[in-house]
Amino acid sequence: MNYDDKHRKFLQYLMQAGVVLDSEAAAVAMQIFAERISLKSIRSQINDRLNPLGMDIKGGVCEISGEKYWMVVGTTLEPSVKFPPMFKDPQNTYLKAIFTEIISSEDGSVSSTDCLNLVDNLPEIKLLKRDADIFLKEMYKMGYLCYREGFVFMGVKSIVELQPYFKATYQDNFYTCLLCKDILFHGQKCNNCEKIIHYHCMTKYVSLRKVQNCPNCNEPMKAFDVPAEALNASTHSSQEDDEPMEVTEGSIEEAPEEAPEQVAEDTAEEAQEEASDSSPEIRMKRRSKRSRRI
Ligand SMILES: [Zn+2]
Ligand SMILES: [Zn+2]
Repeated sequence: MNYDDKHRKFLQYLMQAGVVLDSEAAAVAMQIFAERISLKSIRSQINDRLNPLGMDIKGGVCEISGEKYWMVVGTTLEPSVKFPPMFKDPQNTYLKAIFTEIISSEDGSVSSTDCLNLVDNLPEIKLLKRDADIFLKEMYKMGYLCYREGFVFMGVKSIVELQPYFKATYQDNFYTCLLCKDILFHGQKCNNCEKIIHYHCMTKYVSLRKVQNCPNCNEPMKAFDVPAEALNASTHSSQEDDEPMEVTEGSIEEAPEEAPEQVAEDTAEEAQEEASDSSPEIRMKRRSKRSRRI
C-alpha cells in the first residue's frame, strides 16, 4: 500500500492527540484503513515522508503504567544540548527546572507540592502557582510529565523526544534499565546488587521466568509487586511478544533479543564494567534510597 490520504489522516490524528495508547492507535488505524494493517507498516510509510521534515513517529512505554504509546516527535534535537523552547516562558523555564528536579531526585519523582513550590525558587521567572498548576495539568495531558498519587514522574513523551537533550545535559545522572538497556528515570531497584529495572520490563521478565528474582544477582526482588497475571501468563500470549517491533522501537529500540537467562549472564559482566565506569559522586544521592513502588 502506498502513502495516501489514509496515511495523512492517521498522521493528523496522531499529531492532534499528542500521545496515543497503542490499543487506541490500532483501533483508529482499523477505522481509517478499513482493514487489518500493522501499525509498523503505517508508521514506516508515514516516516518516509516525515523524516526529511525533521519529524518521526516513535513508540515508547510509560515507566509508571507500563502502557505503550505512539507519538510524533521532532528529530532535529539530536545534535543539540540546549533545552528546546517547546513552550513560552515562564513555563519553559519552569518545565526545565522540573526535569532537573526529577532527574536529580533519588527515585525519579517529585511530589506535586514540591513541584508547585519550585516556582518560588526560580527568581528569574514570574509564575503564579495557580498558573503553574494549570501548566502542570497540561503537561500530564501532553505526556511530558506523568502524575500518580501525589507524585510527578517523567512522562513518556519526554522520555522519547527529549532523550538526546537529557543524555547531553545530565550525562551519567540517570540509570539504564538492566534488561532493556534504555534510559530509566523510575524503576525497581534490587536491594542486593542495586541494579535498576523498569517495572514493565520486570513484569515481562517475571512472566517469562515465573520467578521473582533479580536478573543480575538472582536474589528475590521482594519489593516488586508482580501482578498475578504476570506469574500466570502464557509466555507467548500477548501482542507485545508477537510484534515486539510495534511497541519497542523508539524508547526501547535497543532492547536485547537474548533470552532472559542470557541477559542475566551478560549483565553480570556489565555490572563489573559499569562499576569502574560510573561516577560515584553523581549517583551517590540516588543510590541511597530504596525505589518506591507506586
Ligand atoms: Zn527496561
Ligand atoms: Zn540484584
